[in-house]
Amino acid sequence: MNFGLTDEQEMIVSTVRSFVENEIYPHEAEVERSGEVPPEVAKAIKQKTIDLGFYACNFPEEVGGAGLNHLEFALVERELGRGSMALNHFFGRPQNILMACEGEQRERYLLPAVRGERMDALAMTEPGAGSDVRGMTCSARRDGGDWVLNGTKHFISGADHADFIIVFVATGEDDTPRGPKKRITTFLVDRGTPGFTIRDGYKSVSHRGYKNCILDFDDCRLSDAQVLGEVDGGFAVMNEWLYATRITVATMSVGRARRCFDYALNYAAERKQFGQQIGKFQGVSFQIADMITEIDAADLLTLNAAWRLDQGLPANREIASAKVYASEMLARVTDATLQIYGGMGLMDDFPIERFWRDARVERIWDGTSEIQRHIISRDLLRPLGA
Ligand SMILES: Cc1cc2nc3c(=O)[nH]c(=O)nc-3n(C[C@H](O)[C@H](O)[C@H](O)COP(=O)(O)OP(=O)(O)OC[C@H]3O[C@@H](n4cnc5c(N)ncnc54)[C@H](O)[C@@H]3O)c2cc1C
Repeated sequence: MNFGLTDEQEMIVSTVRSFVENEIYPHEAEVERSGEVPPEVAKAIKQKTIDLGFYACNFPEEVGGAGLNHLEFALVERELGRGSMALNHFFGRPQNILMACEGEQRERYLLPAVRGERMDALAMTEPGAGSDVRGMTCSARRDGGDWVLNGTKHFISGADHADFIIVFVATGEDDTPRGPKKRITTFLVDRGTPGFTIRDGYKSVSHRGYKNCILDFDDCRLSDAQVLGEVDGGFAVMNEWLYATRITVATMSVGRARRCFDYALNYAAERKQFGQQIGKFQGVSFQIADMITEIDAADLLTLNAAWRLDQGLPANREIASAKVYASEMLARVTDATLQIYGGMGLMDDFPIERFWRDARVERIWDGTSEIQRHIISRDLLRPLGA
């Protein structure tokens, strides 16, 4: 792994950093206050991202993306992590699983998503099936030449703005020596399809304005043309395209931690008690030392995982380590920053309480910390027969 960035990569970092500072930061307080992204702001962020050539930068050039590799994309996400999730959602990065689109699906879903004309969301989780994805009960059955979907998905981020949803449902069950095992198929479902409704989800303390929705399927009829990948091949598309997306949580956690850390550092250098700056007390300065050490460690773990993907090396364990470490690091860094701010840390005059609240979800979504530890330990123990 080369620890230095090329000139081009440095430019990616500085371009996205300025974008976040100029186009995202100024709207954050309003989104926090109202819990909404004003439509004109969403539209402007999207258009400016397109103009900058960064919309769908995670997609290859042959389909109209910017063709960034995993490391470069991680650099983009790290900078975006500094800003509000609700706002940077419009710095569009469609799900890369859309690369599995074939034939007319490319014109109907992939290419419009890359051009910013249609937005996507991804639905796996159900009220009764979170970590245990195979426990899903949302199902599709054959009826004539069609598929008929029934069931409910919840916690679906960005579905409020989505034109279509990538949905994973059960399409059968196999008997295996370890018990019945669901077969999963992925469907592309357009907003407005009869029998499919998107409704408001729950209010979360993390990332105000970045909404989650509940999706209901009630005899929703789809054609074969809406199957993404193979019938019963949902896990294959998931494994091919989705496992790398867990890096996103790690990279964004690093970016947000760096932003938060700057507040801690400056406050420790300015705030005076007992006639001196609080940063001169070892109780504060050692916290600063621990924070930057952990942020750098998380950064290196994350970039290493992205680099391994670019080299075609196995990266499942490394991605899981980066996700669990970076998200837990962010919790410690935001908590320590709040402590350094004392009582003012809890007040919404500063964004510290927001960073602290926002950090909480990072240990839960895209696979909880426990599930990441499961992935890491299975990777190490399975080859030894344990
Ligand atoms: C704000 C938000 C947005 C989200 N967006 C999306 C989205 O866009 N699309 C989508 O599909 N999903 C989304 N999710 C779902 C998210 O991925 C799940 O919340 C997550 O996978 C955990 O599932 P769960 O909440 O049902 O918890 P559960 O799976 O019920 O877990 C509860 C607890 O049990 C632990 N646990 C479960 N199984 C094990 C085990 N085998 N070993 C040890 N501990 C275990 C968990 O770690 C956790 O601590 C979102 C969630 C949130 C909160």
